[in-house]
Amino acid sequence: MSSSLHAVACERGIKYFLISYTDLFGVQRAKLVPAAAIDGMVKTGAGFAGFATWLDMTPADPDVFAMPDPASLIQLPWKPEVGWLAADPWMNGKPVAHAPRNLLKRMVADAAAQGYELKSGVECEFFLITADGSAPSDVADKQSKPCYDQQALMRRYEVIAEICDAMLALGWKPYQNDHEDANGQFEMNWEFDTALTTADRHAFFKYMVRSIAEKHGLRATFMPKPFVDLTGNGCHAHVSVWKDGRNLFEDEAGELGVSKLGYQFLGGIMHSADALAALFNPTVNSYKRINAARTTSGATWAPNSVTYSGNNRTHLIRIPEAGRFEVRLADGAANPYLLQAGLLAAGLDGIANDRDPGPRLDINMYTDGHAVKTGKKLPLNLLDAIRALQASPVMAEKLGDFIPCYVKLKTEEWNAYARHLTEWERETTLDC
Ligand code: ADP
Ligand code: MG
Ligand code: MG
Ligand code: MG
Ligand code: MG
Repeated sequence: MSSSLHAVACERGIKYFLISYTDLFGVQRAKLVPAAAIDGMVKTGAGFAGFATWLDMTPADPDVFAMPDPASLIQLPWKPEVGWLAADPWMNGKPVAHAPRNLLKRMVADAAAQGYELKSGVECEFFLITADGSAPSDVADKQSKPCYDQQALMRRYEVIAEICDAMLALGWKPYQNDHEDANGQFEMNWEFDTALTTADRHAFFKYMVRSIAEKHGLRATFMPKPFVDLTGNGCHAHVSVWKDGRNLFEDEAGELGVSKLGYQFLGGIMHSADALAALFNPTVNSYKRINAARTTSGATWAPNSVTYSGNNRTHLIRIPEAGRFEVRLADGAANPYLLQAGLLAAGLDGIANDRDPGPRLDINMYTDGHAVKTGKKLPLNLLDAIRALQASPVMAEKLGDFIPCYVKLKTEEWNAYARHLTEWERETTLDC
């Protein structure tokens, strides 16, 4: 491969580059740059007014320059004349500390300084809905237990196969696609990788799924709970920590084949779970998915308490097999970079402070959870979660300046929500 992106563009037939950064609320912000100008942009970055996006800035601040990372280049499989580049926001000659990709890179470097590398895989559930967003797009998708419904899966074959073909061509090693637990809901799985690669792919996956769905006259949504009676969109993350090509979470002698280091990392995530909710469940709507009532399928598949188990999907953390575990907290609104940064922050704290997750629980949390006296509950709404994040010494120590910036913008979002009068309030209060 040639050194300059312009040369790469000539070789591969790329006419334009998207220089794209992800802001605090997970929105991808981009400039579309002609190939002839890309090498200059690699040196200087593409200019943005940071305040116009979800970054903690003012209209008086100088320009943000999004510095593209050439290693992140992805040629859009559905529009090969465009190349997507993940970018890092800089201002006044240095990285913007609270920008999500910069934060993750800092956490990855922290881990590397201790000889650790986080590897993770994400499961990004989504719905295919009508273009107006009102309902699942497939009117025949009506089963009360629609999970793995072959007929409904194949009615969306054109969309799903186009996305999977794209992942195959990009070398992501996809291995399965299915209809999920809600009507109109799907999941597509590809192989885990290092935290930054997975975060870039996670961001790109959301863009790709939306784009390909639109091409087919549909709309894709990752909204945590778009339909109140149906299972919501989770974004489970599977994690393991590696050193010199060896999975440090693997230990034949450990409980369920997980090492002491693995349980420390797990203990760290449990210790900070309520604070992590503000990152992993970042919207008002997120709290309609966790702590939720039973759905029409029979279960929400989302956690309500801070507990862990073996291969049991009713807990916050599940250990499906030796050498890794699954964090089931995050939802479709989770910022791909803050998800990985949060896992690292809490997990590294778990290692540093030998956080003990306590004993494993092998019960059905949906039916028997009330009997558990030890497990902490998850925040019940976004405001509780923001306050838990604000009150967390672990997050303050690990994520530093990011915390006040994020808390400020999320509190503004909560206040905007609180100013709304809902139909429910009117119905239940008009006759008070
Ligand atoms: P589930 O059983 O939770 O539905 P999936 O097959 O949908 O699981 O997703 C599992 C994810 O976990 C994939 O991205 C997979 O590559 C990833 N994974 C597998 N092993 C590891 C590991 N050792 N470390 C991190 N992630 C892993
Ligand atoms: Mg202008
Ligand atoms: Mg899955
Ligand atoms: Mg799933
Ligand atoms: Mg899962």
